[in-house]
Amino acid sequence: MVTPYRHEPFTDFTVEENRAAFQAALKQVEAELGQHHDLLVGGERIKTDETIVSINPANKEQVVGTVSKANRDIAEKAINAADEAFEQWRKWDPEARAGLLFRAAAIVRRRRHEFAAYLVKEAGKPWKEADADVAEGIDFMEYYGRQMIELKDGKPVNSRPIEHNRYFYQPMGVTVTISPWNFAFAIMCGTTVAPLVTGNTVLLKPASATPVVAAKFVEVLQEAGVPDGVINYIPGSGSEVGDFLVDHPKTKLITFTGSRDVGIRIWERAAKVHPGQTHLKRVIAEMGGKDTVVVDRDADLDLAAREIIVSAFGFSGQKCSAGSRAVVHQDVYDDVLEKVVHLTNDLTVGDPASPDTYMGPVIDQAAFDKIMGYIEIGKTEGKLMAGGTGDDTKGYFIRPTVIADVDPEARIMQEEIFGPVVAFGKARDFDHALEIANNTEYGLTGALITNNRAHMERARHDFHVGNLYFNRNCTGAIVGYQPFGGFKMSGTDSKAGGPDYLLLHMQAKTVSEMF
Ligand code: NAD
Repeated sequence: MVTPYRHEPFTDFTVEENRAAFQAALKQVEAELGQHHDLLVGGERIKTDETIVSINPANKEQVVGTVSKANRDIAEKAINAADEAFEQWRKWDPEARAGLLFRAAAIVRRRRHEFAAYLVKEAGKPWKEADADVAEGIDFMEYYGRQMIELKDGKPVNSRPIEHNRYFYQPMGVTVTISPWNFAFAIMCGTTVAPLVTGNTVLLKPASATPVVAAKFVEVLQEAGVPDGVINYIPGSGSEVGDFLVDHPKTKLITFTGSRDVGIRIWERAAKVHPGQTHLKRVIAEMGGKDTVVVDRDADLDLAAREIIVSAFGFSGQKCSAGSRAVVHQDVYDDVLEKVVHLTNDLTVGDPASPDTYMGPVIDQAAFDKIMGYIEIGKTEGKLMAGGTGDDTKGYFIRPTVIADVDPEARIMQEEIFGPVVAFGKARDFDHALEIANNTEYGLTGALITNNRAHMERARHDFHVGNLYFNRNCTGAIVGYQPFGGFKMSGTDSKAGGPDYLLLHMQAKTVSEMF
């Protein structure tokens, strides 16, 4: 019997011993920077001439590492290796597959600060955010392992007197995992181990900005005992390798997390049946968000201001769940805005390797340019109240930015910026606030700060998001506690870290015997 699932506690960095341990991990990782990582295909390490160079977004001069880069030929080889390995892997005892996840979780737990230190360097995450990212990855392994054990015998169905009916789940086959850079460990890990534990074989294509931490994780999976060909590590260009993997007739399942545009492209391409393909592909697509914190008239305004800050500026607003819109009842609008501006001006922006940094850099030059472009648009659509400046001389730093009096239809109210920018909009009343909250094409997360229970009840039905939070921020879902995923153009309604998630990676089979 495995112990019941409990989420991995976060590290308390007020404890001197923990701070010292984290500093030591940062030193260790700094000493390792610049190393090269090969591809992994069918258990074989492959080095390519072309490489992806991963740099530290807080210090462009610093190379975190390089990785070999897959092309179409290598991707083809990897698909064939995964297809072959599937024949054995699919018959593994589900408990044994779960055991591999528990072992991998134990290895990561022992090296937890090292993985988090890699995230500091590769993704620009401040300590707390990096620590939470690794904890979430551990959670996925612990949670999905237990879920698989629960599902291993299928579900009960009825049988008539002279028959025996059984209903159980079996894996699908070759799975392509395409992950984003913003939860470079947690999402990469979760969307790799969910297909693995359910008996599928995986081709992992991590985001090009954060391939090193993924390479380190693949080493852990190998150490835990995942057989050759069951996990394949093939970073490469989205348009070249990504399209090829999505189109391939042997691909059965695609699990993608990333932007709306790439998600739609994958969804459309996967729908096409190619020569030699004898099945319809399944796609799990988790996409963007434009998430709202609603502040009601009857609310704790200090709490509201604090939660708007956490929602908007945690990891520089680079979360799909980031609260990039604050919609505030007109009677308390000025008070909340003033409090938020005040708190924003106190936030520290700098090197995420320093324990005192609240916000590190944004991920790369393209993100920096895009966000600064949105700030310029925002200045024409509303009133700049805080921040608004950026500096990309050493790394990609942008001050947390507050723009007030923005029309609900304005671009910065509608489009995902994916940076530290929050737009304030004024609502006439609660109905109007809900109407604004629902007026984007996304439906991922939302928060309502209120002391009015009737309004909470209204929001429970009418605030159309996959993850709705009352009197707290709209980020930071915990695996097994707040299953995560959105509606509308935020994705395919899957709920990562939830009790239904593994079913998306399997197909159900009915076997009926007459006696
Ligand atoms: P992205 O869409 O640019 O890239 C995601 C992944 O897709 C990367 O690995 C990339 O290489 C790959 N890719 C690009 N083109 C491809 C193609 N043609 N075929 C196959 N793969 C391709 O997203 P990103 O910048 O890495 O991540 C940020 C986005 O992810 C934001 O929109 C954010 O909201 C979203 N996100 C969503 C969730 C969620 O759970 N809903 C979680 C995290 C991030």
